Amino acid sequence: MRMSHTQMYARLLAGDAAYNGRFFTGVLTTGIYCLPSCKARKPKPENVRFFPTCEAARASGLRPCKKCHPDDYARGADPVLETIETVVAEVRANPAHFRDARALIHRSGFGATRAFELFRQHYHSTPAELLLRARLDHAKRGLLTTKAPLVDIALNAGFESLSAFHDNFQRHNGLTPTAYRALASAREFVLTLPPDYPLAYLRRALGRDPHSVTERLAGDTYTAAVRLESGPSLLTLALSSDEIRVQFTAGSAVAVHRLVIGLLGLAQDASGFARLARKLGLARMVAARPGLRLSQTHYVFDGLLWAIIGQQINFPFACLLKRRLIERTGTPLGDGFFAPPTPEAVAALEPDELLPLQFSRQKADYLVNTSRLIASGRLDLAALTGMSATRAERTLLAIRGLGPWSVNYLMMRALGFADCVPLGDTGVTSGLQALFKLEHRPDIDATRRLMTVFSPYRSLATAHLWQFTQPLPA
Ligand SMILES: [Zn+2]
Repeated sequence: MRMSHTQMYARLLAGDAAYNGRFFTGVLTTGIYCLPSCKARKPKPENVRFFPTCEAARASGLRPCKKCHPDDYARGADPVLETIETVVAEVRANPAHFRDARALIHRSGFGATRAFELFRQHYHSTPAELLLRARLDHAKRGLLTTKAPLVDIALNAGFESLSAFHDNFQRHNGLTPTAYRALASAREFVLTLPPDYPLAYLRRALGRDPHSVTERLAGDTYTAAVRLESGPSLLTLALSSDEIRVQFTAGSAVAVHRLVIGLLGLAQDASGFARLARKLGLARMVAARPGLRLSQTHYVFDGLLWAIIGQQINFPFACLLKRRLIERTGTPLGDGFFAPPTPEAVAALEPDELLPLQFSRQKADYLVNTSRLIASGRLDLAALTGMSATRAERTLLAIRGLGPWSVNYLMMRALGFADCVPLGDTGVTSGLQALFKLEHRPDIDATRRLMTVFSPYRSLATAHLWQFTQPLPA
């Protein structure tokens, strides 16, 4: 599928619409970029540069053509994206079918460089990382639904050896495959933390709202009222530097495990980001906390509420509004705790009812309308986690009330995508200003440009920037 300049130029001369979306045509003399099918006058070959995406063309200073509207096209039908999504669906269904990352790249039909770029752009991942996660998910399903011996589980998922399976499983899940299998009937479990895990930062994240009605940190005990698919549950985490003991009042240990892994950010590639930062000469960015993770929200709807409430207001006020919404629509669990609401509970409100709680008219509308989209099945939050990042982003940006900040915040904190930037976030811009010793706080364009070097780890870079100007935790 990799095409030479000559081949692409030939498709351009032919005005071949079948190649729309597979590349974009930049004309250096006019400063315009087009679809291959554009009816505008054909440029000379020496004045043409080809780009894989509109973004790449714009990054080179070109403007979209007003005749063929390449950006509109790129937002809709997208054959390259669909190719990558098809390959990923195949990998997830049968990871053992792919011997290694090269097999995955080969299956995509793109050259290695382009394939790496496409997996980074659309899945925030390298092909190898994507394949590993598919193997681990496959193995998890096998552990819970079969009695097969571990070695068969490992081989069926495509691991080369039992030890490779064991090591990767432990690193991503905080427990052994055998212990994971035992979750099926467990009422509590213990997770092992990696040696560099910065517990003090986790404590700071968990205790950041001292008045919260969903979570409370007291000494080394963290209690959280959560909503699992099966209903509300009260979790208790006993924190220590090498392990976390987890107990819960309701729901399955498998669901609680998934939530706690997200809360701890255990599956994130913290050491990969620390290596990148050092390679960039930015060791100071990670020096105090090389193992920092980005704590994930308890569940996706929770993240969505926060992404709407937290827009353009300060943190304490956002906490206050969220608390009021949860007290109004959540489920009381005793001792002052409330499990966060279901989308149905928020959808049942009238926006007017939120005004006396100090919500702006706009926020009230957005919260209720988005909840109604979910409650009526028109927005499927559960489906977002399995989507490509590109598809998830497009789906979310189409919702009124979710701007780029909210969408990226949600993708990063609730959906676990690795390469997001909440543009316009003041924590990020202060962090960048201090890190690069800039005279002025960077604007949106400068933020986007400065963050490019951290790809595909921009979510973790964001977590580090949030901490960069803060005092070290106790
Ligand atoms: Zn054009």
